[in-house]
Amino acid sequence: MHIQHLIDGKPVASAEVFESVNPANQEVLAEVASGGQAEVAAAVASAKAAFPGWARTPQAQRAAIMHKLGDLIVAHVPEISEWETRDTGQVIGQTRKQLVPRAADNFHYFAEMCTRTDGHTYPVDGVLLNYTLFHPVGVCALISPWNVPFMTATWKVAPCLAFGNTAVLKMSELSPITASRLGQLALEAGVPPGVLNIVHGFGRSAGEALCRHPDVRAISFTGSTATGNRIVQAAGLKKFSMELGGKSPFVVFEDANRARAMDAAVFMIFSNNGERCTAGSRILVQRSIYDGFAEEFAQRAARIRVGDPMDEQTIIGPMISRDHLAKVRRYIELGPKEGATVLAGGLDAPDLPANLRGGNFVRPTVFANVRNDMRIAQEEIFGPVACLIPFTDEADAIRIANDIRYGLSSYVWTENLGRAHRVAAAIEAGMCFVNSQNVRDLRQPFGGTKASGTGREGGTWSFEVFLEPKNVCVSIDNHPIPKWGVA
Ligand code: NAD
Repeated sequence: MHIQHLIDGKPVASAEVFESVNPANQEVLAEVASGGQAEVAAAVASAKAAFPGWARTPQAQRAAIMHKLGDLIVAHVPEISEWETRDTGQVIGQTRKQLVPRAADNFHYFAEMCTRTDGHTYPVDGVLLNYTLFHPVGVCALISPWNVPFMTATWKVAPCLAFGNTAVLKMSELSPITASRLGQLALEAGVPPGVLNIVHGFGRSAGEALCRHPDVRAISFTGSTATGNRIVQAAGLKKFSMELGGKSPFVVFEDANRARAMDAAVFMIFSNNGERCTAGSRILVQRSIYDGFAEEFAQRAARIRVGDPMDEQTIIGPMISRDHLAKVRRYIELGPKEGATVLAGGLDAPDLPANLRGGNFVRPTVFANVRNDMRIAQEEIFGPVACLIPFTDEADAIRIANDIRYGLSSYVWTENLGRAHRVAAAIEAGMCFVNSQNVRDLRQPFGGTKASGTGREGGTWSFEVFLEPKNVCVSIDNHPIPKWGVA
């Protein structure tokens, strides 16, 4: 397969190419055009030229196109999810049932939202009338990571286009394949050429050129905290939405519904191969129930099936790349050196058939007796590695939960209503789920605080990223104007 850029509605090649590899077996899936300054310049020019026409397109027409694109994604779920699974190692059970259908939901949802921009109206004494208008921002850079690339790309493309902007999308160099299908389906749905451009390539070349481009007005970035920082420094004055890394606390009090908390704890660290920004990777358990919880959690982890991501029965597929596997393994090696106890998993390769032995597989690993100041507790591993940290009481739980540079998501498990609200309010995070796993509601703000990012997307919060508010102040009845300079 040859994957090219999509610029002005046409496929465009580059002199340089890179390979996209199946992480389950190292098979080369595609040769991908590797863009740089020139391709970015052409894509931004195309998006800039398309902007006035698209911004003027009646909302209902834009909404109809977004709905059509959502429908086309639904019609292509089997094909897209298989490619997503091959390209990323995310298991087919999740790509087919959750991740790709959610991409379609994004288009349907923002097709509705684009007709709902409302503003404030402030009349002043019957002589002045202030009201708010919202305008699309212009050309937006949309940058996606590799973990759930198709869903993440649509999470940005859908509001961006629905609100009348034009876009240049850059996928991760590790997972470029399904975006090219998105580009084709967008054209088929009636998105005019130039409204959605896609440039493939590496962060330091294509990504950086895109972020620095003076005609790019807003950047919606999802990726690591380190890259987010680099972009903010390089890009100059632009609107930013930064969805960055996490190390989210999953707090289990002694009065929690133990069975439900266990299911959610296992799901929140081992789903999506543990390559999940909102993973509950620090599992804080009250000391009185710690040993029993840890033992059962480790038994659950040891039973998780690791293997071929195309197999419906597989729960954990391969890590995205050899480099990422090496990083996850370094942390598994580090845990015992820092004093943690390995209760499940570890460095031994999982038992796999011969055709998968070259894949980037790792056992789901559980560390007990973790102190929050250990590196395995403080740094984002982004793999199936759980850290179980004991705490004594509510104050101790809140202290440990907040003693971290990140602030993306959080989870609180207790049957005590007052405590649930107190802890939810006290935890420094953009999201808190009480007695629940992470359940995404498109109307709610998604994003983090501290090193997990700035800005929120979702619902009306996406207006702040992809629309410019303007105050219009009208004199409606000869309000007083100072006769400046008149004696
Ligand atoms: P990354 O930061 O390495 O790369 C993300 C994207 O940025 C890629 O497309 C990459 O090519 C591009 N990029 C790299 N350097 C760049 C530069 N200098 N300028 C512009 N673009 C550049 O992240 P990753 O390894 O692909 O993804 C994993 C990270 O993403 C984790 O930290 C994870 O927590 C985070 N993530 C966050 C969320 C969220 O919503 N908060 C969601 C998913 C993933």
